[in-house]
This record gives sequence, structure tokens and C-alpha cells, in this order.
Amino acid sequence: MKVITSISQMQQEVQALKNDKLSIGYIPTMGYLHEGHVRLVNKAREENDIVIMSIFVNPLQFGPNEDLDAYPRDFERDREIAKNEKVDYIFYPSVEEMYPSKPSVTLVVQKRVDVLCGSTRPGHFDGVATVLAKLFHIIQPTRAYFGMKDAQQVAVVDGLITDLHFPIELIPVETVREEDGLAKSSRNVRLTSKEREEASVLYKSLKEAEKQIFAGERDIEVIISNMKNTISKNSSGAVDYIEIYSYPELENLEILEGKFIIALAVKFSNARLIDNLVITL
Ligand code: AMP
Repeated sequence: MKVITSISQMQQEVQALKNDKLSIGYIPTMGYLHEGHVRLVNKAREENDIVIMSIFVNPLQFGPNEDLDAYPRDFERDREIAKNEKVDYIFYPSVEEMYPSKPSVTLVVQKRVDVLCGSTRPGHFDGVATVLAKLFHIIQPTRAYFGMKDAQQVAVVDGLITDLHFPIELIPVETVREEDGLAKSSRNVRLTSKEREEASVLYKSLKEAEKQIFAGERDIEVIISNMKNTISKNSSGAVDYIEIYSYPELENLEILEGKFIIALAVKFSNARLIDNLVITL
């Protein structure tokens, strides 16, 4: 496994792989790897000749009051995990390498961002789209792997790939969970032990909602209010949002039908957790 920190060196390696007509599976991450990331790697390993993972905590996607400095990092541990999972290349650029000066061009995402995390994290998806456009140009993957835990990100990347004509196949990967249902996340380490126990209620509330829907409940307000009750009764976390939209368009639904997402964000003392379920009726 090679660790590459320079853009030009990464480009040279990619050019050689392309000359050899090898397919490239790409997993963009912010590091502090867990089994969620590993699942993406495993899928990429199965489907491509070469697996490239990037580790880059992208300042552009963090708001002024967000956890950029506090975001957990441990490159040596990540390197070991990636090596064990047979990653071929880690692209690990510094902030200076990716943004040597104030960017002259950034992207603005026009659709699928006025709801969910997009509405509470203004500019977040612009930062995600901008860094991914740069990374896609550098790595030129055949397939790019994204976790459905960040379902809005998958919807935004779908728009990015389509609108900017990246010849990349987007592969969404199902959320990997702890035994009690909590979605694996690098931010889970910032929960207190009490909060960690409580946090299983997020997925529980989603599964309860799914059950109610399959039993015939169609009133979106009722479903959301039941979820709010479940979460507030069973945890100290503050609900940031619980919303239901069509997926992947993320538009308001008149009637609960077709493919839609139930998504939530809950703030604990030191970590804001998100989770979702996509349901097809
Ligand atoms: P991050 O390092 O948090 O930016 O995540 C990198 C990629 O891993 C993103 O595509 C995430 O959606 C994905 N990911 C994070 N957590 C999970 C999980 N629990 N299950 C599946 N994919 C995940």
C-alpha cells in the first residue's frame, strides 16, 4: 500500500493505472476509520482492480461553529486498517496541498440542500461538492463509494456527477451499525457512556416509524411526532430535525408513497448524530 501526500504524484500514479486500463474504486473519507468505512473498501475491493482511499478533513465543509479542530484524527491507526483491508493507495494530502491559497472557484449546490443537514449547516454541501470535484479530477475513479448514513450527501453527489459529467459510477452502500443499531460514526467516540447507551434510540425510532408505516400509518406529522416522543423520552439528546422527503430528490411529499427518506439529527453534549431509513412503498 502506498501513502501519497502530493497531488502531482497521485496524478502520475493514476495516469499509469489508466494506461494499464485498470478500474479504480475510490472511497473518500475524513479518516478515523471504522467498520462503515471498511464496508465501503470491501465493496470497492470486490468490484475494481485498484482501490484508492482518500483521508482529508476538508475545512471547506465545516461551518465556523462546527467541530473542524475537534474532529477525531489518527493517521497511524487508519494506515493499519487500510493496509489490512488491502487498500492500494491512501491519498493523504495536507490542507495546504489541497488549498494552497483562497480558492478561485468553488461550487454552489442548487438542489437537495435546502432541507435536512443542508438547512442547519449552510455551505456544508458546497464544501463537500467542491472538494469532491477536486478529488474526482485527481483520482479519476471508475466507481466512487459513499455510505447511505450520509444519504443527503449521496443525493448531492448524484447531482454533482450528473451535472458536471463525471464519468463515475456512484455506488451507495448501506449503513453499518453497532449491535444496538447505532450507526457507526467517527463522532460516536465523543458521546459520554450514558449518551452512548441512549443513542440506540435513534435507530429504534426509525424502525418504529417504519413499522407504523407498514401497518398503514400515512400521516407524516403523526409519524414524526411519535419519533420525537420516543427520542425525548429515552435520551438526553436534543432533536435537531426529523423530516420525511422523497428520495433522492428530497422534495416535500403530499402523500407517503414511492421512495422516501425518514432522516434525523440529534445533538448530544459533544456530538451531533445523524441517521436515516429509506423506504419504498
Ligand atoms: P466520513 O469519513 O465520515 O466522511 O465518511 C466517509 C464515507 O464513509 C462516507 O461516504 C460515509 O457515508 C461513509 N460512512 C460513514 N459511516 C458509515 C456507516 N456507518 N456505514 C456506511 N458508510 C458509512
